[in-house]
Formats: sequence, C-alpha cells, structure tokens
Amino acid sequence: MRPHPGPRHARHDPTPCSARHPAPHRPGFHFEDLGVVVEVAPDGRRRPRCGECDRPVRKVKDRRLRRWRHLDIAGMKVYLEYAIRRVHCESCRGVKTEQMSWAEPSSNFTRSFE
Ligand SMILES: [Zn+2]
Repeated sequence: MRPHPGPRHARHDPTPCSARHPAPHRPGFHFEDLGVVVEVAPDGRRRPRCGECDRPVRKVKDRRLRRWRHLDIAGMKVYLEYAIRRVHCESCRGVKTEQMSWAEPSSNFTRSFE
C-alpha cells in the first residue's frame, strides 16, 4: 500500500475499511487545546441528499468545513469536523445545504449531544 499523501496531522486511522472505500479525504482524528476533533468524510457510496426535501442530488456546488459539538469521551470534549456540501437541488430549484445524519442543518451540535 502506498503512503497517503499530505495529511494535515499525524493520525491514527481506526477504520481500515476506508482503504476499500476511498473518500475525498481520509477520516481520522486529532487533538487540539479544545478537545478531540474527529474528521468525518463521506464514504462515496451514496449521493448527498438535499437538507430541505431529503431527495438525492447530483451536483455539489462547494464545501465548507464545519464543526459540531458531540458527546464527551473520557472527560474530553469531542467535535466532529466535516466539509459540508452545498448542493444544487432540482426539486427545490436552488442551492441547499446537504442533509447530515448526525445533526439538524442549522445546528452546531450533534443530535446525540442535543
Ligand atoms: Zn431539495
């Protein structure tokens, strides 16, 4: 296996199945002063869904890195970090934020945390 190019941080990858399902960036986690940041990435097997009408969409307009506060682990604060996609939805006829399984579109907290 060739080395993965250019990670931002040295990381431990607890999900070896990611090698079989290549993602735009490799999930992992790193530590910051504020706590543990878990990097989440789409697995590439499903199309993104519109956050408003829940239909699958074809076109991604752009991505913006966001964080969501998640439940603590071993007394450390945990954040999920994900490059959320804005998508062109043909049903809604416009650009919408993709649907996420772990949070409401406008929330900075995961459903588990809320
Ligand atoms: Zn829609």
